[in-house]
Amino acid sequence: MIQLNNSIFRTIGEIADEQGVKAYVIGGFVRDYYLHRECKDIDVVVIGSGIAIAEILAEKVKSKVSIFKNFGTAMLRYKDMEIEFVGARKESYRKDSRKPVVEDGTLEDDQNRRDFTVNAMAFALNKENYGELLDPFKGMKDLDAGILRTPLDPDITFSDDPLRMIRAVRFATQLDFEIAPETFEAIKRNRERISIVSKERITTELDKIIMSKKPSKGFLLFDKCGLLELIFPELSALKGVEVIKGKAHKDNFFHTLKVLDNVAEKSDELWLRWAALLHDIAKPRTKAWEESIGWTFHGHEVVGAKMVKNIFRSMKLPMNEKMKYVQKLVLLHLRPIALSQEEVTDSAVRRLLFEAGDDIDDLMTLCEADITSGNNAKVRIYMRNFEVVRTKLKEIEEKDRIRNFQPPIDGGLIMKTYNLPPCSIVGEIKSAIKEAILDGKIENDYEQAYALMEKLAETMIPKELKS
Ligand code: ATP
Ligand code: MG
Repeated sequence: MIQLNNSIFRTIGEIADEQGVKAYVIGGFVRDYYLHRECKDIDVVVIGSGIAIAEILAEKVKSKVSIFKNFGTAMLRYKDMEIEFVGARKESYRKDSRKPVVEDGTLEDDQNRRDFTVNAMAFALNKENYGELLDPFKGMKDLDAGILRTPLDPDITFSDDPLRMIRAVRFATQLDFEIAPETFEAIKRNRERISIVSKERITTELDKIIMSKKPSKGFLLFDKCGLLELIFPELSALKGVEVIKGKAHKDNFFHTLKVLDNVAEKSDELWLRWAALLHDIAKPRTKAWEESIGWTFHGHEVVGAKMVKNIFRSMKLPMNEKMKYVQKLVLLHLRPIALSQEEVTDSAVRRLLFEAGDDIDDLMTLCEADITSGNNAKVRIYMRNFEVVRTKLKEIEEKDRIRNFQPPIDGGLIMKTYNLPPCSIVGEIKSAIKEAILDGKIENDYEQAYALMEKLAETMIPKELKS
């Protein structure tokens, strides 16, 4: 018996009593309750109609309810919680169809169709046994031991809905649990069936893995069970080390995961973490052996930025400014380190600021995370150089306001001043002014830019065009 303090649970229990049905909180909420994790989405299963109970509750607490008749579910927002009501169901899958046959069922039927024992526990809400834990598969024991195990034969559970294999890896990463050996073996056996699952569902789980405290755990598990090359072939291609004449390059899969974990320690920004995962994604495609240098990956940042688009498209990730942000970080990820290896000139820093704009801090976080060398002396030198770059960035930012910089003279002004039609000369003058500012030849201000425009106009605008 537990003390479910939230009065909303009592209210649901009372309504269920009045209606003569049984109601339970089930799944994630129960698991998270014992793990002391905050959980704001609550699933209530009713032996009977979930929708009917939800409608009465909505009236009582004066909240709006959304009803999904086709699924037999209802969703209600209460305070900061989302409560979903569903009638208990029994699902049977046929080999030739992805869609299960769904019938009304008992609580046990409903628990049978759950993915893991720790996700199949329920708290009773009716007065007679309010707070009682119903745990037919010893989920509590698995929860204590940190184990993910399917309630039924894992071959059946995974074959019925192959997304559950991905969810196993997701929960293992998110909760830092282990997957039971027989469950893991079944993932290996059933992995090919992942092809029937939609990309959107997989990507939702990938996002959750990436947002975990130590995301590498998930990708290592995917690799170990053979799912990685099926759901993320580009990442899988980073694996391995080649040796020529005794020279090896680093294993870019392990390196990438280390960078991802490093970034995860510093930032909760999903897209920065995606950038970490994809920063070296083009290394396999650009890899070459050059006698005089050794292993090279020339242009992997450019090819990588292009690959980001295809990966986002195929994974059904958003094709919007988030994608552009990831592309930008992948494209620029070598720049700060290149900067810190030379003398850090004002003009190079100004150019970096100009190109990175507001994302400069994220870019620096990514680049610092990218230093994964085992050689401590080398790491120390890099880190010190990075400090110099950061200081310089700050100085120049304060002095020149380059971030989000718009050249103080635009094309319209050039055309108006010299009575020019739109033509290439206008663009050339504009870009010469921008370059002069970035190179530090003139300051980022109107007077100096105007003076330069006049000087340029003298030589660049042909006499016959001048009026
Ligand atoms: P989180 O909310 O952190 O994603 P959760 O366990 O609550 O974790 P949900 O996706 O909200 O996961 O699902 C709620 C419950 O529904 C789960 O605890 C599980 O019992 C069940 N469930 C969800 N998806 C599946 C699935 N694909 N197969 C079987 N049961 C599932
Ligand atoms: Mg949930």
